[in-house]
Amino acid sequence: MRTTPLQPWIAARIGCPGPCPDRRDLQRHQLARLRDTVQLARSRAPFYRALLAGLPSVPRTLDDLADYPFTTPADVTGQGLRLLCVGQDDVARVVSQEHLADLPLAPLDTSGTTGPPKRLWFTAADQELTIDFFAVGMSTFTEPGDRALILLPCERPGSVGDLLATAMERLGATPIRHSVVRDVGQSLAAIHTTGADVAVGVPVQVLALARADDDLHLTAVLLSTDHVPRSLARAVETAWGCRVFNHYGMTEMGLGGGVECEARRGYHLREADLYVEIVDPATGTPVPDGCPGEIVFTTLTRTGMPLIRYRTGDLSRFLPGPCPCGTMLRTLERITRGGAGIVRTAAGGELALADLDEALFALPGVLDFDATLHRSPGRDRLDVEVRVAAGGAPGGRLTAQDVAGALQTLPGVAGTHEGPGVDVTVRVVPATVVAAPTKRRMRVVSANA
Ligand SMILES: [Zn+2]
Repeated sequence: MRTTPLQPWIAARIGCPGPCPDRRDLQRHQLARLRDTVQLARSRAPFYRALLAGLPSVPRTLDDLADYPFTTPADVTGQGLRLLCVGQDDVARVVSQEHLADLPLAPLDTSGTTGPPKRLWFTAADQELTIDFFAVGMSTFTEPGDRALILLPCERPGSVGDLLATAMERLGATPIRHSVVRDVGQSLAAIHTTGADVAVGVPVQVLALARADDDLHLTAVLLSTDHVPRSLARAVETAWGCRVFNHYGMTEMGLGGGVECEARRGYHLREADLYVEIVDPATGTPVPDGCPGEIVFTTLTRTGMPLIRYRTGDLSRFLPGPCPCGTMLRTLERITRGGAGIVRTAAGGELALADLDEALFALPGVLDFDATLHRSPGRDRLDVEVRVAAGGAPGGRLTAQDVAGALQTLPGVAGTHEGPGVDVTVRVVPATVVAAPTKRRMRVVSANA
């Protein structure tokens, strides 16, 4: 098994090229860059000057960072330009999360869609770092000469797909700038015409292509989002006979964060650019490696709008023990959905959108679904609308009974000895529109609302 290509890249970045870089050298680099970042933020950004007032001018050790306050999505939304560390002339790209085209890698603000948008500022140097990471990450499964289909927004300069296309050219591969899937038939025709070897896209959109046409000869697919259901990845692998890799990133991370190696058991992160902590979501205290918690990151090399101890809301943990690929880099377990993806029923049970994902995407022909929990004083009701491929599922039509049966395998639906489950109503509808590349949520409606 090949060691993740992130390792030699990071080793060179920290000035320690060679086959066996030492993790302590990486930590020395992280501490030095962390101090630079804190100094830059305090000296240039009014928000950080106020936030960090009274703290030591720089952290003495990496562990000392735990004494510094968190930043949150609300800070980015509410403080805006007060986080900026460069003049606006030096900003090469503003990513605003009110624009749908920028959303594939960016979780929606869970507080809702009203209010000011969350804007992130990037300098040209910041964008270079992202391109560099994309090129190295993609080289995990992309060879020079390959044709790489980009199913992410790439129309605007500096958009995620545009940066990825630039990265592909640097790798010696040929980017095919397709952008997000709007029409399955058109996208499939384009793929057949251009003869892609690898593809990068949003899970539900790639699934729609895989369900419609299993005669594509891709060697690998990269799915990019906060949460990739395993059942969805398996459906794509089965349809196309390819390997599916996952990418973890969000706009706040500079679009890219981490990518799986050939072991495909979790993400190796761009640790020269990001310092990642896992904290107890309730107390904010860092937890030991191996323990689950909320992902918090600090940018180490960003100059436009550095983020210090940014709370992502995503849940994961660092896997204990070395990765089978042999790297000294840590492995972040695949993300589980944060608080917004877990809903408590009136009876005290728990429904996780991730569990619904696993149960429903495993069903033949399923493209996507919506779930709404109707809370009532008695027994809650879960309404699920499942969208299936218009051509039907292989092996016959998927029925509402099939879907209800799959949902009944979930303890939160069927009930446990600790509490009753929920009633379920299911609608199965043929999909005519490809799902937009936004983050899905379980809606909750209260009967007395
Ligand atoms: Zn690995």
